[in-house]
Amino acid sequence: MPKKRKQIDVMYQDGTRGKAIATGNNAAWVCNCGNEQLLLGRADPDNATNTPAWVECPACHRRFSVSSGGAGQQDAMEVSEITTA
Ligand SMILES: [Zn+2]
Repeated sequence: MPKKRKQIDVMYQDGTRGKAIATGNNAAWVCNCGNEQLLLGRADPDNATNTPAWVECPACHRRFSVSSGGAGQQDAMEVSEITTA
């Protein structure tokens, strides 16, 4: 079954929002610090490929996590910046 792409929100700690593209449990977005590198995250950490549950922007070191819809729902629903302080 082909996975559908959908647009989800990126929630920053300062209250601003961005957009991410989600495909199944994967999400891709660009940090709002201006770094052009695409950040990739997953709603469910993949132990087989050792994919971490959070992603750090290499430029500003903000960390993000991708959340899923909850039990039985693995699709990426939202990306949120994690407080690192
Ligand atoms: Zn950044």
